[in-house]
Amino acid sequence: MTRPRLRLVHGPTPLTRRAALDALLGVELWVKRDDMTGGAESGNKLRKLELLLGDAIAKEKRAVVTCGGVQSNHARATAIACAEHGLRCVLLLRVADPDAARAAPPLATGNLLLDRMVGAEIRWVSPEEYKQRVGLLEQAAHALEQEGYPAYIVPEGGSNGLGAVGYFEAMREIREQMDLGIAPQAPFDVVANACGSGGTAAGVFLGAQAFGVAREVRAFAVCDDAATFERAIGQIIVEARGHLGAEATERELVRFVVDDTAKGPAYAVQSDEQRAFLVEVARRSGLVLDPVYTGKALFGVAQAVAKGEIPRGSRVLFLHTGGLPGLLAQAEALAPALGRWR
Ligand SMILES: *Cc1c(COP(=O)(O)O)cnc(C)c1O
Repeated sequence: MTRPRLRLVHGPTPLTRRAALDALLGVELWVKRDDMTGGAESGNKLRKLELLLGDAIAKEKRAVVTCGGVQSNHARATAIACAEHGLRCVLLLRVADPDAARAAPPLATGNLLLDRMVGAEIRWVSPEEYKQRVGLLEQAAHALEQEGYPAYIVPEGGSNGLGAVGYFEAMREIREQMDLGIAPQAPFDVVANACGSGGTAAGVFLGAQAFGVAREVRAFAVCDDAATFERAIGQIIVEARGHLGAEATERELVRFVVDDTAKGPAYAVQSDEQRAFLVEVARRSGLVLDPVYTGKALFGVAQAVAKGEIPRGSRVLFLHTGGLPGLLAQAEALAPALGRWR
């Protein structure tokens, strides 16, 4: 099936072995470097945006609206890709106190700095308003249309069926790398990724089935609970199957697990133990993870091995989905975990 697709990802991204972390985790660790899909726009969202913005341009839209937390990687990737393709970009960003943010906008660091760099238009929304984000996105799109800018709505995280096709394609890419001998040909025991809105996990699951990439997909929730994500991901899978048609074959029997035991105290907040782990991983191996998503997910892998849910010695493929700007915005929270200066 041909579907409109923008070329945004600099792929194939590296598929690498990270033996320096085997002892810490208790598994044979492989890493798919989707933190390297691009430059400032890098991360997993770019794979979804190839399809979503491809669709927007095919439909002759001139603006894009999307939403997320104030340090949303997705909002930032969307803003940068829109700037590259001459699309106006409106971001609905969640903050604790929108009135205060309107009166005195927060210092733009990390993702927010990049949003501002590329000229995204930012509208602040409260956590309460954010619950009605689908309606808010429609209102914003309508307002843009009134101004002569037909607008395309990208849902939170780019997580709908079409966005998830980007991760189905990523699994095809990994299968090609396995067949080239970059990694063993036999399916991985587990592919693990961080889960925030579910689109990545949905595409990974469908692709793991179709291309025999792994026997288990383990999605580590960074907020909410397993039941919520199982429902959301189930819906995205149904929608994605609609786009993929006969491409979504079930070559391999794949176990799907949403693990919500590593989400920590709150969205974007880590426990002290998780912060220490983030620093330990970086110091042992040079693998820099982020505190909101990937750090929690790899911490979850270590816990799952310790609990015996992932058998010791398993061959695990960790999807590094990006998030560096979010790390750079957490200097204060991370300072104690860095210890004394040396
Ligand atoms: C958005 C994001 C995720 C989660 O992907 P979803 O498809 O939203 O579940 C994981 N890691 C990073 C760095 C992200 O920005």
